[in-house]
Amino acid sequence: MVTFLGTLAIVAVFVGVGLLIDRRWSVLPRKEELIEAGRKKPLGSDHEVGLAPATALACEPSRLPKVIAQQRCACKARAMERVSEDDVRYADRTLRAVKLRCARCGAHRHLYFELRPTS
Ligand SMILES: [Zn+2]
Repeated sequence: MVTFLGTLAIVAVFVGVGLLIDRRWSVLPRKEELIEAGRKKPLGSDHEVGLAPATALACEPSRLPKVIAQQRCACKARAMERVSEDDVRYADRTLRAVKLRCARCGAHRHLYFELRPTS
């Protein structure tokens, strides 16, 4: 019985660690990735912070243009332009969803920011 529980505990720990690793570094394919699976794109290129509401980037409003300017498209061009933005509610937080468009290939992507007051 002890052996059985021990095995169970070890399995639980490994599953937990696996989920944690996936949450942090996104090992498993995400929904966005599956939707865009037909597009030529290097694996893992879309897993930066800010690409999903759950990984919204905490940022001062004044830094937004700078962060957007640093974005690189899946086509490797660093030419993302702000198309539009919306405030969205996610898990009791208000996030700024900024729609970006690549000036080179025309691909769209959203960036999510959790805006905080400038200190
Ligand atoms: Zn592009």
